[in-house]
Amino acid sequence: MENFPEAVIIGAGFGGIGAAIALRRIGIDDIVIVEREDDLGGTWHVNRYPGLAVDIPSTTYSYSFEPNPNWSRLFAPGAELKRYAEHVADKYDVRRLMRFGVSAESAQWDEEQQRWRLTLDDGQTLNPRILIAATGYLSQPHTPDIPGITDFAGQIVHTTAWDPDLDLSGRKIAIIGTGATAVQLIPELAKTADELTVFQRTPIYVTPKVDFAIPAPVRSVFNRIPLAQKGARTVTDLVYEVIMVVGVLHFRQLNPVNRIAAGAAHLFRRLSVRDPKVRDALKPDYDFGCKRPTFSNEYYRAFNKPNVSLQAGGIEQITADGIRTLDGQQVDIDTLVLATGFDLWDANFPAIEVIGRGSRNLGKWWRDNRFQAYQGISVPEFPNLFNLAGPYSYSGLSYFTTIECEMIHLQRVLGEAQRRGKQTVEVSEEANADFLARMTSHLDDTVFYAGDCASARSYYFNHAGEATLLRPTSTANAFREAKTFPLSAYNYS
Ligand code: NAP
Repeated sequence: MENFPEAVIIGAGFGGIGAAIALRRIGIDDIVIVEREDDLGGTWHVNRYPGLAVDIPSTTYSYSFEPNPNWSRLFAPGAELKRYAEHVADKYDVRRLMRFGVSAESAQWDEEQQRWRLTLDDGQTLNPRILIAATGYLSQPHTPDIPGITDFAGQIVHTTAWDPDLDLSGRKIAIIGTGATAVQLIPELAKTADELTVFQRTPIYVTPKVDFAIPAPVRSVFNRIPLAQKGARTVTDLVYEVIMVVGVLHFRQLNPVNRIAAGAAHLFRRLSVRDPKVRDALKPDYDFGCKRPTFSNEYYRAFNKPNVSLQAGGIEQITADGIRTLDGQQVDIDTLVLATGFDLWDANFPAIEVIGRGSRNLGKWWRDNRFQAYQGISVPEFPNLFNLAGPYSYSGLSYFTTIECEMIHLQRVLGEAQRRGKQTVEVSEEANADFLARMTSHLDDTVFYAGDCASARSYYFNHAGEATLLRPTSTANAFREAKTFPLSAYNYS
């Protein structure tokens, strides 16, 4: 492996693929993409549980510069997303840059060489000039530390480690968690399980999913007339933008709209779940949008099945053959499914140890000084480092908005360095501080601060209680700023 590449990208998911395309657009081709998994696709390579599908319309959940006219459904199944990632990597010729089965462990800025020193788990070191962390937000599976979990004698499966050949029919299954993953998986497990017990700690808002197969003639039109698909994308982009801007970001001014969305979800639950006790237990008691809501036509109805029950009273202990609840019941099971999500703030900010100029440790600095990054991507004292999953980076509801804004950002700032004949770019303290102040003031209007999120247990909030994950502006603003932020926000040397 070339040890002094121009750039290293950590992660071969959609973020890493997009970053590689952005670098190649400005003539940087000496790139190594390191990926700990054995193939590309990130979340869509790792997640293979039954029912996996995108829950943003595929017309929006894709690169705008590479529309896929062949999506089979409005909300495409996970396997199609994986194939789409492969297609893009091949078409834009970035697969050849990827090295699989190797994890980045730590990175340190070498002041003398003006390069990063990236240590890999195979003992090698890479010394790129530019380092891009495309490690995603939800990539470190969370295994809950519930008393007795190691004593369980049956099979334990985390949703991120699903063997597609696993057949759970006829089993007595418990599933812990009711996030977006569980909402997709529960109806599938309910089809064949002998008994399925759902352990819920915090209810989730679920709204109907307007999903349908895209008819062959429509796909044919999308293939022949790209403008038609662009039109469809504009519509789905707009719907999701309105949900986010009106329902979440301007809660203070427009909370009646948020209440209507919450009311629609409550009505859907009341119409779908027959048992009044179960219906009540599934009711969220925080404001809509505090935690990521999800879409499903089957989740609530699964609780009407005779083989499905809900446990919402809390887990006391996992035993060898089951789960004991806080209210003294013993639920016997042979299979435990952990739909318990991801470690976000503990394990992903940043995903590896990063030491910048003056021995500044990124993780420690964020925790001592608040989470912050200019335009969600750059931090002072970390030259030539672009952290794609930074604080305030996630824009809107589709991850592709975030990626494409970041691609524009990378192209502009690194292109400017090329024009000036400079090797190093570093965001100024002032630009970073201004951006943080602006994001902080926007947050005041959001449901996160103006609403009631106390009981939501939302991963949008960090351990200090600040909602520093999502960028509290419209995606239109994020795109505009990506295209127009002053290049003088960076120092070039
Ligand atoms: P998640 O939203 O973080 O949900 C994890 C669930 O596990 C929560 O219900 C959580 O309860 C529960 N849990 C965790 N630790 C627990 C413990 N010790 N005891 C009891 N319950 C515990 O994770 P996810 O469902 O995997 O979804 C993560 C994100 O992935 C989603 O928000 C979404 O952005 C994305 N996703 C997207 C799609 C898609 O189609 N695009 C599909 C799936 C997921 P609490 O809420 O009480 O913490």
